[in-house]
Amino acid sequence: MRKPNRPHANLEEYRLYRSFYRDHKWPCLECDGIGRTCVRGFLIGTCQTCEGSGKGTKKEVVEAYREEIQAWKDEVEAFHEEIETVRRAIDKLTEREYRALADYLTEEPWENHE
Ligand SMILES: [Zn+2]
Repeated sequence: MRKPNRPHANLEEYRLYRSFYRDHKWPCLECDGIGRTCVRGFLIGTCQTCEGSGKGTKKEVVEAYREEIQAWKDEVEAFHEEIETVRRAIDKLTEREYRALADYLTEEPWENHE
């Protein structure tokens, strides 16, 4: 259980990430600004979305960035809910139960007995 990392610090970093191959101000998100379609690592044709220009729109890039950040926020919220569930479960244990469980969980797998 690890806290999810923020995918991109801000819109500018996201924009640069998505236009890695060709520096368009607002890259086509279908082909990441390349202008070509890519199948299994081979560039096989002209991107239908941008018709080969590699250019997209600010609106599309901003929207995609917001969706990505929202997905990350949802993951962080789920992470905090899981941590809270664990804390509530730990609070129900006696000190002795907690120590026994902690010892059990930190043992190497081959030391655990059925
Ligand atoms: Zn394209």
